[in-house]
Amino acid sequence: MTATHILHVDLDAFFAAAEQAVHPEYRGKALIVGGTPEVRGVVCSSSYEARRLGIRTGMPLSQAYRICPEAIFTGGNFKLYSYFSQEFHKLLGNYSPVVENASIDEAYVDLTGTERLHGILLKAASDMQSKIKSQLCLSASVGLATNKLVAKIATGIAKPYGLYYVLPGREKNFLAPLPIRKLIGVGYNTEKKLRSFGIQYIGELARIPEQILSHTFGVMGTYILQRANGIDKRAVENRLTPKSLSRETTFATDTADRQFVRGVVKYLAHRLAFKLREHKLRTQNLSLKIRYGDLLEEQKCLATIPLNSDQRIATIAMELFDRLYTRRVAIRLVSVKASNLVQDSWQLELFEQNELQTDPLTQALDEIRKRFGKKSIATADLLYLNKYYTSDKEGYVLKTPCLSR
Ligand SMILES: [Mg+2]
Repeated sequence: MTATHILHVDLDAFFAAAEQAVHPEYRGKALIVGGTPEVRGVVCSSSYEARRLGIRTGMPLSQAYRICPEAIFTGGNFKLYSYFSQEFHKLLGNYSPVVENASIDEAYVDLTGTERLHGILLKAASDMQSKIKSQLCLSASVGLATNKLVAKIATGIAKPYGLYYVLPGREKNFLAPLPIRKLIGVGYNTEKKLRSFGIQYIGELARIPEQILSHTFGVMGTYILQRANGIDKRAVENRLTPKSLSRETTFATDTADRQFVRGVVKYLAHRLAFKLREHKLRTQNLSLKIRYGDLLEEQKCLATIPLNSDQRIATIAMELFDRLYTRRVAIRLVSVKASNLVQDSWQLELFEQNELQTDPLTQALDEIRKRFGKKSIATADLLYLNKYYTSDKEGYVLKTPCLSR
């Protein structure tokens, strides 16, 4: 069996680098992305020039200012980053049909079997790096290995603007001298526990008998042990971001009951938001469509900051509905659609904490929906809709719309 070849690519200091790409005056300077020092907030990203002076991601901006008052401070520009991200992922698609977008600035590329197309693997990897540099003006680091885990760790070592190749069969030796926290899956608590056993390096962890690890960590124990031995069977998943997601309802009988349809819009918005969170996506564009009984269709849309919360999406959808529904004709169908989607994995909450964080209530609701089904819980004002719904495989069709005239 031939070995798999997986390449992990990660853009260096992405947000800061994207700013430097479009603002030549920022190049070669200490640049801090996150906001101005007067605002309460944290460093989202910083240029390597700033990192050299001690700036770290997550550091309060005020502290960053004390360390480095001469740095350039700037807020985040979502549109710019998402443009660069799309171009980056597009470029990777030239190297293999199997590309997994792991986050806004990071991807796995399965190069297995593409050697004949791209010459030897290392050449393909460095070619990719120089294309990213010349076409996007961004610097990327690359790790090449037989699996995702080792490739990703190799990228970390290669940073910045480096290339690291772990030869097939050398995975375990490569990992052995590294501290255990480098191992994906070893979080703060696991690390603390392992350290209390006197284990500091991955090589030491790899020698622990499986029974001991599974006794302490349950199923995670086996998983950690495999990882420590450089084993990772996860395949590169061709997980391309869908272009759009939508939810719609066709009424069994056309209805002109504004309050009722508005309630349905809210309900659809909640379901759409849940879907977005399930796919780990956010929408930057929300549209609402009405199809009338006379089959005329109307649509309105709004560009937003990246959203995936029930409340925000429902508010916008209902607003769009209020603006759109001006004809005095009964409605046959309403649809709420999210497009221009972005991955949720970039830590957007660093920018605008209230705007973008998934709140604890939403998290709890999602847990309940995942366990007991999407109809298991709803806000009280939507409960009255339930009795009108009958489910089908595509969603829900209303049985008898209430005509409260
Ligand atoms: Mg990065």
